[in-house]
Amino acid sequence: MLSSKKKYIVNGNSGIKAQIQFADQKQEFNKRPTKIGRRSLSRSISQSSTDSYSSAASYTDSSDDETSPRDKQQKNSKGNSDFCVKNIKQAEFGRREIEIAEQEMPALMALRKRAQGEKPLAGAKIVGCTHITAQTAVLMETLGALGAQCRWAACNIYSTLNEVAAALAESGFPVFAWKGESEDDFWWCIDRCVNVEGWQPNMILDDGGDLTHWIYKKYPNMFKKIKGIVEESVTGVHRLYQLSKAGKLCVPAMNVNDSVTKQKFDNLYCCRESILDGLKRTTDMMFGGKQVVVCGYGEVGKGCCAALKAMGSIVYVTEIDPICALQACMDGFRLVKLNEVIRQVDIVITCTGNKNVVTREHLDRMKNSCIVCNMGHSNTEIDVASLRTPELTWERVRSQVDHVIWPDGKRIVLLAEGRLLNLSCSTVPTFVLSITATTQALALIELYNAPEGRYKQDVYLLPKKMDEYVASLHLPTFDAHLTELTDEQAKYLGLNKNGPFKPNYYRY
Ligand code: NAD
Repeated sequence: MLSSKKKYIVNGNSGIKAQIQFADQKQEFNKRPTKIGRRSLSRSISQSSTDSYSSAASYTDSSDDETSPRDKQQKNSKGNSDFCVKNIKQAEFGRREIEIAEQEMPALMALRKRAQGEKPLAGAKIVGCTHITAQTAVLMETLGALGAQCRWAACNIYSTLNEVAAALAESGFPVFAWKGESEDDFWWCIDRCVNVEGWQPNMILDDGGDLTHWIYKKYPNMFKKIKGIVEESVTGVHRLYQLSKAGKLCVPAMNVNDSVTKQKFDNLYCCRESILDGLKRTTDMMFGGKQVVVCGYGEVGKGCCAALKAMGSIVYVTEIDPICALQACMDGFRLVKLNEVIRQVDIVITCTGNKNVVTREHLDRMKNSCIVCNMGHSNTEIDVASLRTPELTWERVRSQVDHVIWPDGKRIVLLAEGRLLNLSCSTVPTFVLSITATTQALALIELYNAPEGRYKQDVYLLPKKMDEYVASLHLPTFDAHLTELTDEQAKYLGLNKNGPFKPNYYRY
């Protein structure tokens, strides 16, 4: 429980001190929610505005309506027309989605309650470009509750949930996004968020760097008023580091992609939860007794292996790194070369982030009905191109499921054509996105409130103290009781009783 007007003094990576203050508030989320969100998208691995996510299908979409949202006169029930969505009439469906997501996003809900009375984002004008999902909506409404004004566009042309965008527009958020935007629509939507009479953003929340890029290109003067950028994705962070290196970054930026809690949740826990979901939805398979080889025993591989082992599968691991290989051995997995087991396994899963891990030679040697899929970022891990030869027949048996048939009748089951299985064929748990969204909210609060000079024109990691705070906000969900250091113990360990509890180099 928090003491009255508790201060969160944060020691940053470069000795920076940051503070977040919240009014005294009892933690009220100690009951474990029972519902989970229907779907979501992990943003850290979104790469471009044209990535396709089949799982982002919206069940209230009407493909009959071909009119571009840009050509429609749109108004919400209060007569406000500062938005552009597919169909404002879907708002009620979207509101239900948002309510479901709220139940698995306890930290944001706690932030809303704690900010009652004080508004750490009062005066903030945030322009955002992220996936527009129920989880993002919970984030936006939290930012609103914390005092911010927001304008939002989608960072991906396929991932917008139309009903959620409608619900946001109905409740007064200027949202410019719909599922199936063209490239031109994509930039038009971003521009409508930024290029507004009488409104200039002073904070950027970006996922992929497109919004930041647009402002750099079209409205560089805006950076005079912008206090900071919070960036979510690997690609966007990479771009920011490049700008910083070239001396062209004109405001401080926060890299939330590499926060410890986010990394753990996106990679290890998310994959542990979603690998089975992706396999089950596409193949209806049973896992018990199946022989599976998982290539790569990093965070993603560890998650996949743990889930499959728990279901009774016999799991083999391949690795190139002796440390991860030893970890696999210590966790009870047989470390093999792919060649040694390729003839006998029922499932092959790649999680290496590498290329050509599964080659045509491996594919030729697999047994009939072997399932092949990828959990790594890009579709380079399985040499899918090598399967597009005249002697092999491709049969689409389900959405995201292909049978590739050899001349002798052997067939393998290729999922999502070698793209990320969980993002293509299943959902990502809302709780994972709760961690991400809370990290984003705290990063915005920190940058917005930081006194002049605390942050330079550089890219920063979220201070560890805040990472710890994000985690602590999620603990009440589990009725988890954290032990507090005694004064004597704190002195003995040389720690502040309120953290940070680990040095920056600590590997969790
Ligand atoms: P990681 O670096 O922790 O693990 C990858 C492992 O693969 C490493 O241990 C590496 O030694 C091993 N490896 C590399 N080449 C190999 C090879 N040829 N054979 C066997 N092992 C090999 O990375 P991670 O966090 O586990 O992420 C892995 C991939 O998954 C990345 O591409 C990442 O972007 C992606 N990712 C996916 C999701 C998802 O939801 N599916 C989530 C997070 C990350």
